[in-house]
Amino acid sequence: MNYGENLKKQYERLGICKDVYEFGCRIEERLKERFLALDQTAEFNQMKVIAAMQKKKVSAECFQQSSGYGYNDFGRDTLEAVYAECFCGEDALVRPQITCGTHALALALMSNLRPGDELLSPVGKPYDTLESVIGIRPAKGSLAEYGITYRQVDLKEDGSFDYEGIRRAIHEKTKLVTIQRSKGYAVRPTLSVARIKELISFIKQIKPDVICMTDNCYGEFVEESEPLEAGADLIVGSLIKNPGGGLAPIGGYIVGKKECVENAAFRLTSPGLGKEVGASLGIMQSFYQGLFLAPTVVNAALKGAIFAAGIYEQLGFDVFPGAAESRHDIIQSVTFHHPKAMRAFCEGIQAAAPVDSYVTPEPWAMPGYDSDVIMAAGAFVQGSSIELSADGPLKEPYSVYFQGGLTYPHAKFGILMSLQKLYEQNLVNKDRMC
Ligand SMILES: *Cc1c(COP(=O)(O)O)cnc(C)c1O
Repeated sequence: MNYGENLKKQYERLGICKDVYEFGCRIEERLKERFLALDQTAEFNQMKVIAAMQKKKVSAECFQQSSGYGYNDFGRDTLEAVYAECFCGEDALVRPQITCGTHALALALMSNLRPGDELLSPVGKPYDTLESVIGIRPAKGSLAEYGITYRQVDLKEDGSFDYEGIRRAIHEKTKLVTIQRSKGYAVRPTLSVARIKELISFIKQIKPDVICMTDNCYGEFVEESEPLEAGADLIVGSLIKNPGGGLAPIGGYIVGKKECVENAAFRLTSPGLGKEVGASLGIMQSFYQGLFLAPTVVNAALKGAIFAAGIYEQLGFDVFPGAAESRHDIIQSVTFHHPKAMRAFCEGIQAAAPVDSYVTPEPWAMPGYDSDVIMAAGAFVQGSSIELSADGPLKEPYSVYFQGGLTYPHAKFGILMSLQKLYEQNLVNKDRMC
């Protein structure tokens, strides 16, 4: 079989041996139909973004920079209108002053909850960094310190919602329900927009005025609809993940009900000031252009994730989701049960990067996480996980979470390089590579 001699040579120059390359080609061949379906979603979402930009009359003027207070920042205000339109919200807050996803989530929670209110997570433990925000792990300035209580209902063994438990957990103090779309570092399925809709309808039946917030990190543009269309009041995410398209150098967003977004704006800046202040300092073009590219960047990341699943599934490792399973975020986990293999995988991702390819990732005690974390990323934007990256807590079961890739060829190369590292260290069963 001829897998493209020129391409094979190119990969060889980059350190991918013939066996690894040809194995990759065979796996890729099987994924053709999956990829076609993903291309259709990307096309749909590309049109959605263009339609929003046209409707809100994005112009070259939007890219001009403001400084100081940032009053009447036309580019910033138009971008927020574009986000609201694109994600089907009444209003949006999209700011470089929101430093990351955790900050955006903390902002949405702290501004919409008051002392005496209760926060409910009906989908189990939230993302690690939110434990400090909520006060599950004691932390200065947590919701708990302000007298905001927290209740959690875990998913059932099979991943389904514990409707009875949820019904019992909702009472007069329940003010806000947080629903994390992506599995994050947890072992549970990521929620589809359809499942989020089911959950929200159930909750609103019990308590119509409760605020339903979705942590939308890693979920944007994976499907053709978004959680606000499924009844959520608020969606929150990071611009150095999906919606920033790899170009946004910082930022977070909150989109949804006008009142909820307003609350967040008054918390981000100051009561009385809200959305009126906040200079955009010349980064507006990257926000617009990043959003414009986001649907195809997410498409590349999804293809990379499925390719990784295909490769490691064939090699006998536990992958989640499986190569043939439906997916609702860009994260792929591979479980190695072996620290060496986990490190080799990360070394490969690092070695395939356009930036910092010559360094070796080492585990470290990252703030907000309760065990050492290993991270591989050679990103243009520091820590950006829409760029090709892999990370995971260095503890049993030694699962890496792999995500991103601004282009599919880069994602593919990263996966091949990860396999190359395992192959060289005899950490894979070579018989399975036929
Ligand atoms: C990444 C992520 C966060 C936190 O975002 P940071 O930008 O890392 O602070 C929160 N929730 C989920 C589901 C995430 O994936």
